[in-house]
Amino acid sequence: MDLQLAGKTALVCGASKGLGYACAMSLAREGAAVTIVARHANVLEEAAKAIREATGSSVTAVAADITTPEGRAAALAACGMPDILVTNSGGPQPGDFRDWSQDDWMAALNANMYTPIALIQAVIDTMIERRHGRIINITSAAVKMPIDILGLSNGARAGLTGFVAGLARQVIQHNVTINNLLPGPFETDRLRQTAATKAEKAGKTVDEVLKARLDGIPARRYGQPPEFGDACAYLCSGQAGFITGQNLVLDGGIYPGTL
Ligand code: NAP
Repeated sequence: MDLQLAGKTALVCGASKGLGYACAMSLAREGAAVTIVARHANVLEEAAKAIREATGSSVTAVAADITTPEGRAAALAACGMPDILVTNSGGPQPGDFRDWSQDDWMAALNANMYTPIALIQAVIDTMIERRHGRIINITSAAVKMPIDILGLSNGARAGLTGFVAGLARQVIQHNVTINNLLPGPFETDRLRQTAATKAEKAGKTVDEVLKARLDGIPARRYGQPPEFGDACAYLCSGQAGFITGQNLVLDGGIYPGTL
């Protein structure tokens, strides 16, 4: 299937590795010119080179903190007004809510709720004028099934999800869609970091924790980032113009609900 992404421009945040990188790779493979953002310039440049070499598409790398106004301005200046926006940054720290200060909450809300909203605010009117736009927010399966040690994530991402649910219905008449991708356990650095916290608490190795967790995944394996990237590319495609305001869980069958 031709996803009609050739010639489109995409801004993909948090894209030097993991799920953001996979989204950028899939979009570039379908012919989109991508601008990728992350804080560490060396890892980002390597990622840009790998995507360019694998796809032949144009890749611009912007080393910036997307959770700051300056970082967002730099990203938007580099890519111009994109046809596709993928919002993403690191997830908040795990822990016990008794230990979190107001500053901890403000940082999580900024990174995982306000930053995607600010990016959407910056691009959406141009998308409406062009009568084309695709916005994907990388959130978490925790939006549907909260994770005990990730209270900052559960809370901040629920806020973003609520906001997007309202906005998505207002803009689809202009062929602008907004959907959320909700990752379950995908094999990335983030997964290993979360496992490391659990391992330390339980006095186990990271590999032991990861192996034990497989029992709770109906697929009996971890998700692979390219599977996530390709779902993103589909939701950004020309064919996906009738899909909006959705929360697509990619979790190997963990979420137990019928709907
Ligand atoms: P990852 O492998 O740690 O990658 C995160 C990416 O985001 C990196 O490129 C990182 O680069 C970039 N980034 C982080 N903070 C940033 C910032 N402030 N500004 C710009 N770029 C930033 O994480 P992942 O597994 O792909 O996860 C992506 C998102 O999905 C996270 O929010 C995570 O919580 C969520 N998630 C992941 C899983 C999973 O199993 N992997 C499950 C549920 C939810 P720099 O550090 O260089 O900036």
